[in-house]
Amino acid sequence: MLRTGQKPGKGTYACMTCRHRVTIKDDETRLPFCSRCGYGTRVRWRKLG
Ligand SMILES: [Zn+2]
Repeated sequence: MLRTGQKPGKGTYACMTCRHRVTIKDDETRLPFCSRCGYGTRVRWRKLG
């Protein structure tokens, strides 16, 4: 499980609350807040695939 602000590397991640997906394209990009459910820093992401 990953938190907003971590740098998990390239991949597609899904919000565990609403399943909104984000794609991260490089190793320096941090996981964002979820723009759909607005859970802010409490959002948990999981890697897809
Ligand atoms: Zn969400």
